[in-house]
Amino acid sequence: MAGVNGETLASLEQLVEGLGPAELYWIAAWSAARAEQRAHGPVPVARPGGERLTVLYGSQTGQAKRIARQLSEGAEAAGLSVRLVRADSYPPREWSKETHLLVVISTQGDAEPPDDARGLVEFILGKRAPRLPGLRYAVLGLGDSSYPQFCAIGRQLDARLAELGATRLAPLGEADVDVDSVASPWTEQALEQARQALGSVAAPARLTSLQSVPSHIAHSREHPFAAAVLDNQRIVASGHAREVRHLELSLEHSGLRYEPGDAVGVWPENPPALVDAWLTLLKLDGDQSVRHDGKEWPLRHWLSRERELTRLSRPLIAALAEASGDDALAHVLRPNQSVRLAALLATDQPLDLWRRHPVAWSAEALVGVLRPLTPRLYSIASSAKAVGEEVHLTVAVVDYHAHGERYQGAASTFLAAAVDDQRVPVFIEPNERFRLPADEARDIIMIGPGTGVAPFRAFVQERRETAARGRNWLFFGNRHFHSEFLYQVEWQAALREGSLHRLDLAFSRDSAAKVYVQQRLREQGRELYAWLQEGAHLYVCGDASRMAKDVHAALIDIAAMHGGRTPEQAKEWLSELLQQGRYARDVY
Ligand code: NAP
Repeated sequence: MAGVNGETLASLEQLVEGLGPAELYWIAAWSAARAEQRAHGPVPVARPGGERLTVLYGSQTGQAKRIARQLSEGAEAAGLSVRLVRADSYPPREWSKETHLLVVISTQGDAEPPDDARGLVEFILGKRAPRLPGLRYAVLGLGDSSYPQFCAIGRQLDARLAELGATRLAPLGEADVDVDSVASPWTEQALEQARQALGSVAAPARLTSLQSVPSHIAHSREHPFAAAVLDNQRIVASGHAREVRHLELSLEHSGLRYEPGDAVGVWPENPPALVDAWLTLLKLDGDQSVRHDGKEWPLRHWLSRERELTRLSRPLIAALAEASGDDALAHVLRPNQSVRLAALLATDQPLDLWRRHPVAWSAEALVGVLRPLTPRLYSIASSAKAVGEEVHLTVAVVDYHAHGERYQGAASTFLAAAVDDQRVPVFIEPNERFRLPADEARDIIMIGPGTGVAPFRAFVQERRETAARGRNWLFFGNRHFHSEFLYQVEWQAALREGSLHRLDLAFSRDSAAKVYVQQRLREQGRELYAWLQEGAHLYVCGDASRMAKDVHAALIDIAAMHGGRTPEQAKEWLSELLQQGRYARDVY
């Protein structure tokens, strides 16, 4: 057996000292890929003049982009000529020339495309879309099965391309929040089909290994950095019903970098009380060992760190309906029941459903039926220029009582309880659609009620550090002025020192009638419109389900009223801002 000499072994021992099992396995996989690369020589070069594969993506939180990038790297490794394009950079005239296309696209909330794909989706679903008989394609939709219209945009695109005469290279993939369990096999299949269609020279067996191991060691979603907690404090008045916390984490020695607008991904652990409740109700032993998918851990570990316990999903409802034989439950999943399904998904957690439809599940069956735990994203509330090797987060703690039970969010409960020096597994999720203007002289308008204000703390810090000349205008709202004015002291200091130029506030529960940020927008409509006409960039962060829609409607009204436009023209004007990247949203 080949080995290494004593000196090399000693250096290796030194290098890996202090690393955990996950990091050691990762290094093993990385070394294997390097060995394979060396054994097979350099990756073959695409044939000049040959047909090209286009990988097109529309991404809101960066997941679709991550998969598209992997696809494109896999295609390159297979010797294909490939280009990776974001949906808003894809000119409509390209469609009729395209021959081989892989699309990765997410669905937001209620069947909405991601912001960067709005134009593309509208075009291809619309009357002006060309016939596409020469196109071979495959679509991977990303979605969240806790929404009734799961993967709606992926489905629409897949069906529409077929309707326009294109031929599928692979069936539609529908990935849930545990994206990779569907995306990985789909990627392999789609690449193999593309390779066959384009007649590449590379061997198919190499795709997986090259695509799954990055070419440099870095912390990522799969290999998070264990960030030490430096500070964790409540930033709303104590005793107040809703807790919001400010966390500061150390990124020292992580090699992680971020820009204002990016998010931090946190791999949480489920609330211990919830894990106990599952074990008690299902009469299962947390210490019993469970093997699933080639991994073996005690059941308690599976439930704490590997499985979703706080989010209900369609596959889980389907599994419970089947196991319990309850027709009423199966009925909720029918296409015409989307309103009832939405209500169920919004109000209930998996355990509620199990309480109502108790079935005897073995530990193995339980692990098999629950979805893998996924990381939660928090918009970064700091600028690295201001805080160095730290990252700050603003966390609303999900903790309430309903149906006589306590409900706690997975990540927010985990973060709220994190003590100083505790390690939190994190990674950076870049958000290139939510960036400060490249031209620092441009004005910016930031609309961020509740914890949606987080990225604007980063923006203002960054603009102060870079002495940007543009003006900064913040609209903030929350329930009460006295208890929930997040970062009040900082905003006031920023106003004094001139790094914040305007601040408009809407406290919804301090008066008899509710006041929301969009009311302030309307009140300031004339000036706001003037700023936008002079080239200001507009940002919205926070709740997607109602706030972002209402703010959008207010902006249309403002453009109609102060820009002398018809409502239709005002709508178009706002869509153009969106497509130009001058109106960016970080909402979910
Ligand atoms: P929230 O629930 O959004 O409430 C903040 C304020 O918005 C309250 O005064 C609320 O008023 C008001 N509001 C309610 N409906 C509104 C509407 N239709 N239009 C405008 N304002 C409205 O605050 P939060 O609990 O801090 O949640 C923030 C949201 O941002 C969450 O959905 C979260 O997922 C999202 N988000 C957070 C981050 C982050 O990094 N922290 C990033 C992106 C998105 P009332 O309650 O009195 O009606």
